[in-house]
Amino acid sequence: MSDLKDISNSHQPACVALQETHLKPENSFRLHGYTVFRKDHPANRASGGVALLISNNIPSSLLTLNTSFQAIAAQIFTHKLITVCSLYLPPNTHIDKTNLNNLVLQLPEPFVILGDLNGHSQIWGSDDTNSRGRQIEKLLHDHNLCLLNTHEITHFHTPTRTFHCIDLAICSPSLLPFFSLQTDPDLHNSDHFPIILTDNRHSHLHTVFSRFKYDLANWTKFTSTACITKTMQLFLYHRSRYSSFIPIFTDGSKSDGHVGCGVVFSSDTLSYRLHNCCSVFTAEIVAIFCAIQKISLSPQREFIVYTDSISALETLSHYHSRMHPTAIRILFTLRLLQNGGYNILFCWVPSHVGITGNETADYAAKSSSSFLIQGLPYSDIKKHFSCRIFSSWQGTWDLQIHNKQHSIKLTVCLWPILSIREVDVKLTRLRIGHTRFTHRHLIFGERIPICPTCRVGFTVRHILVECPGFNSHRVKFFQSSSITMQDLVGEIHHPNIFNFLKAIGLYTCI
Ligand SMILES: [Zn+2]
Repeated sequence: MSDLKDISNSHQPACVALQETHLKPENSFRLHGYTVFRKDHPANRASGGVALLISNNIPSSLLTLNTSFQAIAAQIFTHKLITVCSLYLPPNTHIDKTNLNNLVLQLPEPFVILGDLNGHSQIWGSDDTNSRGRQIEKLLHDHNLCLLNTHEITHFHTPTRTFHCIDLAICSPSLLPFFSLQTDPDLHNSDHFPIILTDNRHSHLHTVFSRFKYDLANWTKFTSTACITKTMQLFLYHRSRYSSFIPIFTDGSKSDGHVGCGVVFSSDTLSYRLHNCCSVFTAEIVAIFCAIQKISLSPQREFIVYTDSISALETLSHYHSRMHPTAIRILFTLRLLQNGGYNILFCWVPSHVGITGNETADYAAKSSSSFLIQGLPYSDIKKHFSCRIFSSWQGTWDLQIHNKQHSIKLTVCLWPILSIREVDVKLTRLRIGHTRFTHRHLIFGERIPICPTCRVGFTVRHILVECPGFNSHRVKFFQSSSITMQDLVGEIHHPNIFNFLKAIGLYTCI
């Protein structure tokens, strides 16, 4: 027991799989900080027997196995849900092939089987192969399983003073890239060397999991009050498909007087403020660049960058020389990382639908305060100056309420141009009030044309909205005799304005 404590203290394992516990049901067996699941020898004999010791920091549940073997299994949640099975196959007994297959089929994937199987095979470093070894080889083959052992010596046979490899770690193929196996060189008063399995996804993290009493929760109430949308479900499904890829969320934001970007990693969050002239697109793309830079320092290789900016993703999908300078830097860095074995995917996520990482990135972008010093793209500077100039111009225009154009055009923004040049010119002349008909007298030194009905000089305003002589035409073409200049020649001109002018015989004189 003290040896077990030593091993547990030095390695702090998430889970310990024991074989040959030699426990009878009445023997108590405890280890501080661990939950013990055990299966003693079926004949109530103090021989054989298996146990699993699972750290209380890790959520776990015992599996019910329908097997006559000395086997026990539990699902534990470390990086992901993993099934761990402790198995003891005693030597010199017949192991039924069907029963062994049935045991493997009962283990939810991904799983790892740890145990003294008393099989010798040259595959795992024995000098020869015995029938048990061949049986295990066939099991590996039939179930497409992987062996984590690489010729490590695991057993010291005291009577013959010889070393053997009989303790095996067998796993589902999906675990193979992440698990590594070492043996502890100290026998710890046993005749087996402890096998240490390391999940490399966890080697940098010391996560303490909260323990929850799931069966005490009111799940009906939770289901009825929790807002779990289809999008969230879809996203969770997507995450389960790409669970080996580390998620990174990026977001950019621009509001009055604040531009920022946020990048959310599982371990920390970056948040930078950008110059106020940056566009929201720049904020989005800088967020992605920050993510890529951080990825390049990581020992991990598989990442997914989630962004809610479709335009950023579209930009990054094809290179061209005039693209956003930060996008070019991203593509350049991505190429370097690709050559370094990185696999980085990009994925669009909708914003404000309860995807936690995206919400956190959004908050980080909006609340950022530390400035990120970086060059500004020319297009953002140009747009910023253009906005400032328009704003100043608008302020001046707002004060010129006595200008006759003011009632026609209240803002200084650009209006659309008509596709037919001749029509566009006539419309512009009507808007500014200078037409050939009303102003040619100035060039030719003639008398000002006078309205025969009203005895006043003709102006564009008089013709279009004031003169009662054209009222019947106004009703015909504009469905009203009372109409404003803005209705007729505003940003969207009246569709019948030119028909009206043709009907009163002035179209060609404009
Ligand atoms: Zn008139």
